[in-house]
Amino acid sequence: MNAYELETAAATGFTGELKVRHPWRLPGLENCERCGATWATTGLQYPCIDLSAFPQHTSYREARIEPQGELDRLTEQLRDWIPSGILLRPGASFGPMEGTARGVFGHFHLPNPWTLCMHREALEQLQAAGVHGLQGCRMNLRSRGTPPPELLELQLERHGHFHPDCLPAAQQPPCARCGRDTAALPDPYLLDAASLPTTVDVFRLADWPTLILATQRFVDAVQRLELDGVTFRQVEVR
Ligand SMILES: [Zn+2]
Repeated sequence: MNAYELETAAATGFTGELKVRHPWRLPGLENCERCGATWATTGLQYPCIDLSAFPQHTSYREARIEPQGELDRLTEQLRDWIPSGILLRPGASFGPMEGTARGVFGHFHLPNPWTLCMHREALEQLQAAGVHGLQGCRMNLRSRGTPPPELLELQLERHGHFHPDCLPAAQQPPCARCGRDTAALPDPYLLDAASLPTTVDVFRLADWPTLILATQRFVDAVQRLELDGVTFRQVEVR
């Protein structure tokens, strides 16, 4: 099984620039009572989970840090309302991104390495080509002078693990209270073939959610349809 990491295509002439944010988020954790860390996760984003009908949604508007007790309260209150199976960590964000767009965008656009946006037509072409796992949420964009591009952010499932061969022999376990993991990204990293998904063709690595990965089927379809704005770097799978 092959896997590819998505990267922004360099030197393509696309000048697109987004200044956007998700409208809701869980606060970061302030001073974990066990490990002492103040932290928030990056890459756990759920654009298709719109909290506007959630009665307490205003408590999730402001980006901030909170002590463990208040963070736990906000997390559990939200967990009762959202679909089951959604991983909630400090800093997880929700809802369709909003903000401004300017410049020229390719079919794909990565405003940062952990956020995958694409034009609606490209998403529909890929779905028609049999690519799975494309759950897109339309972003609320404004643009000066011209109509804003119709870009969607993909909500990506978390799948896959590192192969043990790329991990250090002695690993510090994550904090038992807050779950913070201080391990570094293995360089280079290897993926465990048995852990890779068969139901979706683009996903976040469960062990490292800022990494967006694609299957051979996704790469083949993108190349056949001549979709631009993204390149693929093959990752070793064992
Ligand atoms: Zn901790």
